[in-house]
Amino acid sequence: MDGWMIRLMSMATHGIPDELLRNEELIKELEAVAKDSALLHGVLMRTKESPNSSEVVSYAPFTLFPSPVPSVIFHQALEISTHFNRLIDRVSQSPRFLEEALASTIKVDSFTAKLFNIYRQVQQDPQDMAIVLGLNRSDYMINHVDGKEALKQIEMNTIAASFGGLSSRTPNVHRHVLKVADRLEESKLILDNNPAAGLAKGLAMAWELYGSERAVVMFLVEDIQRNIYDHRYVENELWARNIRVIRRQFEDVSRSGYLDQNKRLFVDGQEIAVVYFRNGYMPQNYKLEQSWEARLMMERSCAVKCPDISTHLVGTKKVQQELARPGVLESFFPDEPETVTQIRATFAGLYTLDMGEEGDQNVAMALAKPDQYVLKPQREGGGNNIYGNEICCVLESLNSTERSAYILMDKIQPRPTYNYLCRKGDPVRLKMCLCELGVFGAYVRRGTEVLMNECVGHLLRTKNAEHADGGVAAGVAALDNPLLI
Ligand code: ADP
Ligand code: MG
Ligand code: MG
Repeated sequence: MDGWMIRLMSMATHGIPDELLRNEELIKELEAVAKDSALLHGVLMRTKESPNSSEVVSYAPFTLFPSPVPSVIFHQALEISTHFNRLIDRVSQSPRFLEEALASTIKVDSFTAKLFNIYRQVQQDPQDMAIVLGLNRSDYMINHVDGKEALKQIEMNTIAASFGGLSSRTPNVHRHVLKVADRLEESKLILDNNPAAGLAKGLAMAWELYGSERAVVMFLVEDIQRNIYDHRYVENELWARNIRVIRRQFEDVSRSGYLDQNKRLFVDGQEIAVVYFRNGYMPQNYKLEQSWEARLMMERSCAVKCPDISTHLVGTKKVQQELARPGVLESFFPDEPETVTQIRATFAGLYTLDMGEEGDQNVAMALAKPDQYVLKPQREGGGNNIYGNEICCVLESLNSTERSAYILMDKIQPRPTYNYLCRKGDPVRLKMCLCELGVFGAYVRRGTEVLMNECVGHLLRTKNAEHADGGVAAGVAALDNPLLI
């Protein structure tokens, strides 16, 4: 074991006492109980081998135990959620800011450039009284420095933020495991959570405002649908309200989609009230040029887009970095110094790499201490970031223009916890883990009138500390629940 591991181990917090974590016989029993409980409660995922079949399914990766999270910090993350909703919504309505923030990035990052191109085209033809639906997830880690803990934002997901469905089901699994482990008191501390209902509330409100009984909500989905049950929880909340839902891919929209003279969107003959993007956030999602044309058509339509193209762009890492510049938050909340302070408190150090003196200084800073930073491209879905010495290799290989495809961020150092990760096909072993807390936000606006602005739930994901990067879908993290301490 190297020094780094020993240092981390000595810092680890123990939400679950040592004698329980190390009781091998009991762990074996709990593993079996937990996996059955996950299946019974619907914490499900299709398998890697047959990702589009519901014939044989398994449990989604989850932790055997909940993980400790300081109560004050947890509530801070929930309380700030509606401020982030407003921030995202305001930034999405500021073409000047988006143009300036992304100017250097779109010169070198072709994916962001293509999104931006759609944005510019839609800007030519603004819609009065457009209905805007934002369903997002702000992710955090708890930075632990000099004995102090602080909530720090990792990123903001404004498109296809996932696990609102499955995380509605995991509390019952951990409650059951803790009861079987004879930890009734802890089991009572597991919080209820139902992001699926809150996300669906936003979708339902947008559907209602669209105002056509016949129109449907379209989930725009990938061709590979391993995580379908996560979607289904949201979908079923809509069916329960007698709102029809269809699932379609870019290809379906290309093949059969059209706009009528009033810009109403039709796909396979059905009028679409809301397009809910659970796809479209990665370059490989746009398999053909027609996929881009389909995205443009949807954006030009009067259907509600979740997210619309401007809100999608607000979720880029470059925008995150530009928002952290002095004075920027103030410009979006001119009369709310308290809101600015609360949001800014969650920002880690974020640094531009754009051409110029500031960018050069930031590069020098990263090269001097690469272990203190994360280098991030404009990508989503986990597994894209660069860490440690590889930061030096990448930065040294780029010229000053190409650097703008990335931003630099302080590396957050959370306190490790011990847990077992239950993952299909892997034996469970005690691992040192790191947690990431996500908070779901939902808002609806029509024209200038905000009609909904809510925090609708949380998601705790936990990964083996050996992995620098990656989420649940990327095969690294597992679904968890906070045990407030
Ligand atoms: P993505 O949009 O691909 O999810 P993220 O910014 O969330 O990109 O990064 C992916 C993962 O990398 C996170 O889930 C987290 O585990 C890790 N990570 C990202 N930023 C940081 C950071 N500043 N400090 C420590 N870990 C980070
Ligand atoms: Mg993301
Ligand atoms: Mg992420």
